[in-house]
Amino acid sequence: MDDSQHKQRVKAIALLSGGLDSTLAIKLMLSQGVDVVAVNFVSPFCTCSPRREGSCHLASAIARELKVPIRVLSKGMDYLRIIERPRFGHGRGLNPCLDCRIYMLKQAASLMETEQAQFIVTGEVLGQRPMSQHRAALDLIERESGLMGRILRPLSAQWLPPTIPEQNGWVDRAKLMAIRGRSRSEQLALAKQEGVELFGCAAGGCLLTDPVVARRLKDVFCFCPDYDLRDAKLATFGRHFRLHSGLKAVMGRNQEENERLARLGTDWPVLELADFPGPVMVLRGTILDGDRVPLGRLLHRYAPKVTADPVTVRRAWGDQREQWVVSGSTTDQELDAWRI
Ligand code: SF4
Repeated sequence: MDDSQHKQRVKAIALLSGGLDSTLAIKLMLSQGVDVVAVNFVSPFCTCSPRREGSCHLASAIARELKVPIRVLSKGMDYLRIIERPRFGHGRGLNPCLDCRIYMLKQAASLMETEQAQFIVTGEVLGQRPMSQHRAALDLIERESGLMGRILRPLSAQWLPPTIPEQNGWVDRAKLMAIRGRSRSEQLALAKQEGVELFGCAAGGCLLTDPVVARRLKDVFCFCPDYDLRDAKLATFGRHFRLHSGLKAVMGRNQEENERLARLGTDWPVLELADFPGPVMVLRGTILDGDRVPLGRLLHRYAPKVTADPVTVRRAWGDQREQWVVSGSTTDQELDAWRI
């Protein structure tokens, strides 16, 4: 059997975020004759969005373009627990980047067995991200994921010790890259050279680095011990107010968010103004008698039309309904005290 026949049987699992780096990493593997199965992780905190009409998922569109199969895995409750209490800490927001990489690589390792692949490929670039891509972090991630020698980072491979696929000659180290640092210029040049046009969010990252989302999630972890994935999704949009430890109100900022809220919390209490259009408000927690007026005034504050007349507030939950009348709207001081 000659070398080229041998290489055709080499298979890798490649983490594909939909960003430029992971797309290029796959391209480099394909150009060396390695079979690739892409794996993409979705979570409420993804920031990648489709660039092409008719494509609902960017990583899938890229996989199609690269002609590689893709498995899409959801980060679930186990991931939320990691965000709440990561072993290796948070970044500048609530992003547990080290634990997150370890989590994804462990899932990729399971897939490696199922797919009978020999190693894992990532688009990591040495020195690109302060928390997870410096040399000690890459070593720690490799150790903790149980994948010693089996994670190939084609974009920075020449700065790193040879991995098993390089040592075994499954890939040619000389054809791998020596990119490091935060500049994207080498990747963009490589993309041009390789004809890679479809990629998203070159800067990467996720909403967990956003201080607003981080604050809302901290609130969930603190006040809502029985949270679920919907609470995580809820943290990523809308206006959030905590009236007291037992009650949070979230309102849509526009029609699209109002519809998202209604879809997300079908079993959550929903408040709306009865007489004219306004935001949808969903409640998480328990309404006490004294909450009705402040909630109504809050809803009125964000209505397109704030009136001096009393307004009627309608509350629906399950098949139950109630309504009450309030006057006035929330003051700036109240807003500041409640805003999450
Ligand atoms: S930025 Fe978000 S998705 Fe990326 S490693 Fe960090 S926590 Fe994970």
